[in-house]
Amino acid sequence: MAVETLMRRIPSVDEVLKTGTAGVAVERFGRLQVVAAVRAALDAIRAEVRSGGAAALEADLVAASALARLDHAAKPSVKPVFNLTGTILHTNLGRAVLAETAIEAAVAAMRRAIALEFDLATGKRGERDSLLRGLLCELTGAEDATVINNNAAAVLLVLNTLARNRDAIVSRGELIEIGGAFRMPDIMARAGCRLVEVGTTNRTHARDYAEALTDRTGLVFKVHTSNYRIEGFVAEVPARDLAVIAHGRGVPLVNDLGSGTLIDLARYGLAHEPTVAEAVADGADLVTFSGDKLLGGPQAGFIVGRKDLIARINKNPMKRALRMDKIRLAAIEATLALYRDPDRLVERLPTLRAMARPETEIAALAGRLAPVVAARLGDGVAVTVVDCASQIGSGSLPQQTIASAGLAIRPRAERGAGRALDSLAAALRALPVAVIGHIADGALVLDLRCLEDEAGFVANLAANPAALSDGDGDGLA
Ligand SMILES: *Cc1c(COP(=O)(O)O)cnc(C)c1O
Repeated sequence: MAVETLMRRIPSVDEVLKTGTAGVAVERFGRLQVVAAVRAALDAIRAEVRSGGAAALEADLVAASALARLDHAAKPSVKPVFNLTGTILHTNLGRAVLAETAIEAAVAAMRRAIALEFDLATGKRGERDSLLRGLLCELTGAEDATVINNNAAAVLLVLNTLARNRDAIVSRGELIEIGGAFRMPDIMARAGCRLVEVGTTNRTHARDYAEALTDRTGLVFKVHTSNYRIEGFVAEVPARDLAVIAHGRGVPLVNDLGSGTLIDLARYGLAHEPTVAEAVADGADLVTFSGDKLLGGPQAGFIVGRKDLIARINKNPMKRALRMDKIRLAAIEATLALYRDPDRLVERLPTLRAMARPETEIAALAGRLAPVVAARLGDGVAVTVVDCASQIGSGSLPQQTIASAGLAIRPRAERGAGRALDSLAAALRALPVAVIGHIADGALVLDLRCLEDEAGFVANLAANPAALSDGDGDGLA
């Protein structure tokens, strides 16, 4: 048929809007959005016809296409996933999964007005920090505490408050990059401090610090290099000794712990990480740490330590720009409260539960799921139960892996195996709840340490819209 004839057959916006399908769409998305989507669908049809292609011209089909566009656009961008990467605290997957009590507290804070900066005893204006001060001091042994947006902000705020236009002394072995654009020297510059590097990459001694301390020194800064290790001929000055050196010159010692655990992880068979309470007891005047790393809460940055220094931090105008919202404050309070009962922490705190989960339990789960996954993916792949080595992630305990178990999914055909593997990974990501694994030794590996919802995982596998198995046996449509 001639292009002109086809063009004349394209329905008008009004004709499309009169269809039943358009009625359904208006009910769901409102008239404004539907009219725009119908226009867009008609534009696409016109372009198709002009270029000689075949397009469905019936008004009802145009309405269906508009509805599909709106459905697609309405899908939230924030999508849950199954984190089967083997990295428990995966920064790109949102780090810690929160405890149920924390979730409930956050929901309650969202739904109602809360006494955020309001003293219910006096009826007068209160202080946001008073909500968490008691718990934080109790759990860390510090005199005072404050909470802001994240630990990167905590470091920035502490440096800016105590060492603006002054020297901040740091060991060359601790000038770390945490990721993205967060490099200690850059943060120091932005905080307005003069960075004074002491020691060398592998060795820094007490005398290096002592010689660098002057009247211009604002603080001595110690960074827990939790995301890397130097081995061999190394020396660092323990925080306890550093505190004595700094205090000898009347200068505060700040210890950025990064992950900052509140309990001794050795209890759960993991390597000992310095706890916040230890850092405080070792004489740090301020300690900074994250909320969503080992602590297992929402994103947050904690600063605990000397009362007079926290008071100075609270007067810094930057504090207001970095402050914490009521939703996360509620979740943090509930998370911290769990630490009062360490015996039941493993049951209640998902991060710790994942870290402490026994390998035998994970292996049994892998054994149950292997045939289910194999049946779903077809003959083109081999699914086997394999040993895995989970990591904690987010720069915590980088050396330590935890024995785990999972599934290795391997394309059977050797030709094009790399591409087959990529499309398999893509197919699993395209499931209603994306399944994220990692590729190792020519297989897609799903470490099952963080999989708690077994039934949900199986149902998700069955509900795949774009077939995982293409029926002709290669399993990789
Ligand atoms: C992770 C980390 C930070 C930054 O913490 P965020 O919570 O990601 O802002 C700062 N210092 C150290 C040592 C860290 O490991």
